[in-house]
Amino acid sequence: MTNEFRKLPSVDKLLTQPAVKTLITRHGPQLVTVAARAELTISREQIAQGAEATTIDALIKAMTNRLLGMVSSTLQPVINATGVIIHTNLGRALLSERARQAMQQVASSYSNLEYDLDGGKRGSRYLHAADLLCRLTGAEAAVVVNNNAGAVILALTVLAQGHEVVISRSQLVEIGGGFRVPDIMAQSGARLIEVGTTNRTYLRDYEGAVNTKTGLLLTIHHSNYQIIGFTAEPTLAELTSLSQKTSIPLMEDLGSGTLIDTAPFGLAHEPTIQESITAGVDIVTASGDKLLGGPQVGLILGKRSLIDEIKHHPLIRALRVDKTTLAALHATLLAYLEQRAITEIPIWQMISAPLDQLAQRAEQWRVALDTAELPSHVSLTVLDSHSTVGGGSLPGQSLPTKSLAIIGPSPDKLAMQLRQTTPPIIARIDQNRILLDPRTVLPAQDQTLISNCKAVMGQTRKRE
Ligand SMILES: *Cc1c(COP(=O)(O)O)cnc(C)c1O
Repeated sequence: MTNEFRKLPSVDKLLTQPAVKTLITRHGPQLVTVAARAELTISREQIAQGAEATTIDALIKAMTNRLLGMVSSTLQPVINATGVIIHTNLGRALLSERARQAMQQVASSYSNLEYDLDGGKRGSRYLHAADLLCRLTGAEAAVVVNNNAGAVILALTVLAQGHEVVISRSQLVEIGGGFRVPDIMAQSGARLIEVGTTNRTYLRDYEGAVNTKTGLLLTIHHSNYQIIGFTAEPTLAELTSLSQKTSIPLMEDLGSGTLIDTAPFGLAHEPTIQESITAGVDIVTASGDKLLGGPQVGLILGKRSLIDEIKHHPLIRALRVDKTTLAALHATLLAYLEQRAITEIPIWQMISAPLDQLAQRAEQWRVALDTAELPSHVSLTVLDSHSTVGGGSLPGQSLPTKSLAIIGPSPDKLAMQLRQTTPPIIARIDQNRILLDPRTVLPAQDQTLISNCKAVMGQTRKRE
């Protein structure tokens, strides 16, 4: 048995093999040495269990595979066939071509990120994109931070720390991932004053709670839940008039905050940022990567004096936005200003995709897959289903779509096999069928989707 140990090459000997030298050229000596040590350790353990020594060729093969695993990113592209357009777990909004180019450009060169080109001195990163936001929404001023959760915490800290904040009980919700309104309020040092009930809150409830300690009136859009039945909440106009009468600022967290009316697409009307500004809300917060279809940012818009206070609070430094993000946001906003958002921004392309085109693509997928390779117990059919906007917006709303259904004995297993392809395909399971929705699959991914599905079906067939 000790003989077998002696048959193993040393690390140094492994590193001088021609195939390993190629690995070193590609990945550097440090990673390759780690891989060599790891494979030799495994082989020694196997010999101790009575196995024969691994050959040099087998060791090199194992090292190559291990290196591939070591250098491949944990963050990888996937094909989203779920039909959920703003899928938070799959990275939310895809960026437009123009936004991607803008990111590339600012990443490859120095920029005037915080430099005043006229004065030749220090400038502010918070200027970028602010003008466009104001032009698009009618807001007096705007500031961009890392994400909307950050925007809400920052705005509450600046506007309401040490004061009372009045909010309806119907809005004391969890927005997602442990982001709960009462906790955020505590975090920002504001005192939560709940008014009304879960289903019905009136203006008079707010009026009754306002006193000299009140620092802010807060309203949060029902972005990821619905309260249906016997319900009431004051209108934005009622809240703004109370705010004006009492001189207590009104803040609205819109969450998604679209710049375009969603109703013409067959969806419910999602409140736009412009509507809130026009109604007289003092501070509006919204996400950049939901219905805006841009990069992950938090937008804070509203009255200049309040935005100035926010811009000068030390906490903003901890939430500051990256230059590539600002470049992508600018390019995204420009598409709205030039009235090209629906054709240029991926989420709007997906929302507005015509049903007959979706049907055509689903049918093309079906024809391409319906070959001799199809396992005998699997059948394919194109059927009516529903896509959703997702991303905590438009709850209960859906868009009619056509999906390719794969009907077979074990949908969970097939879904797992689809997730193991490169790139992984993420499908939806509905009534024991795998559904692939073309709405969220980029047309450029059609061929890859087909060949990856074929590969999975081929495996299944071989095992029959
Ligand atoms: C999504 C959402 C947030 C959080 O926004 P992020 O950009 O994900 O940080 C906050 N408030 C509401 C109402 C939301 O819908």
